[in-house]
Amino acid sequence: MIKEFNDISADINKTVDVCVIGSGAGGAVVAKELAQKGFDVALLEEGSRFTTKNFNQDPGDMMAMMYRDSGFTVALGLPPVSITLGKAVGGTTTINSATCFRTPEHVVHKWVDRYDCAGLSHESLIPYFEKVEKEINVVELTEDILGNAYQVVKRGAARLGIEARPLKHNVKGCEGAGVCQWGCVKSAKQSTDVSYIPKADAAGASIYANCRAKRAGDIFRLYPRKGCMRCNGEHDNPGFPAQEPFGKLVWPGWTAPYNTSLRTRSRRDGRGGDGPPWCFPGRADRCVCR
Ligand SMILES: Cc1cc2nc3c(=O)[nH]c(=O)nc-3n(C[C@H](O)[C@H](O)[C@H](O)COP(=O)(O)OP(=O)(O)OC[C@H]3O[C@@H](n4cnc5c(N)ncnc54)[C@H](O)[C@@H]3O)c2cc1C
Repeated sequence: MIKEFNDISADINKTVDVCVIGSGAGGAVVAKELAQKGFDVALLEEGSRFTTKNFNQDPGDMMAMMYRDSGFTVALGLPPVSITLGKAVGGTTTINSATCFRTPEHVVHKWVDRYDCAGLSHESLIPYFEKVEKEINVVELTEDILGNAYQVVKRGAARLGIEARPLKHNVKGCEGAGVCQWGCVKSAKQSTDVSYIPKADAAGASIYANCRAKRAGDIFRLYPRKGCMRCNGEHDNPGFPAQEPFGKLVWPGWTAPYNTSLRTRSRRDGRGGDGPPWCFPGRADRCVCR
């Protein structure tokens, strides 16, 4: 069962093998895979849980509800860069467009050349691509769903002598509502909240929505955040009991935008220290499980 703000009325003191932060494309997969392998997992998600009942197809309402900073997150610099991110159970997969393609071969080559990825090759990733594609049902959309715009693109491509094919999407029973980014009104999109997270839950992971990981120390102290439709401010309620799951391993299940601030607050260098070790995507080999 996913525990939400209103389900928690007392302190939770828990010791788990792995504490995963974030329930999007990264975190949900890690939580499900580890829980199915028998690890005791706690999955923490700052955002709320939303279902089709909450989706009204209005971009303004939906961005306020499910996008971090209502969609106005900015990386400050010259020039400032706008970054859109989801904040919900399912992370950005709840509000993304469901387009799926495998990491191209040249990108994997670049990783191998530039980073410490010895042993990695496009070929070695194929079984993993296939596994994920099966989990989230990656398929080519049919022409009736793609509509007239696709016919125009197809005609244009034919005139230019280029083969046009529909992009693949992770959907089941898509009716082409065209509102993937405001929450799939048919639950057709196989975002992690409908694919990986129920499986993590069934495998025994403890899943907490409305819980922002504030700081990683010897214990992971969490403050439930009030999850309400238009609550965008940082709202830690000091009067509310803290939850303290302790992860022997902390796994931030998200990519670059969040890492810096949480790591800075936690003074973790990812290489040990006196608290739980951190594990970053692609660096599982570097973790020291205590
Ligand atoms: C509008 C839009 C459309 C997109 N369309 C596509 C597409 O069609 N195809 C595609 O491949 N990609 C698409 N993407 C990108 C894709 O969805 C993301 O790259 C992917 O979801 C990133 O996965 P992640 O796990 O790193 O982060 P996310 O999926 O964003 O998940 C991170 C989660 O961690 C939570 N979190 C962060 N900090 C904390 C904390 N301290 N405590 C607790 N929880 C925390 C966040 O609330 C969030 O729910 C799209 C993105 C956007 C914005």
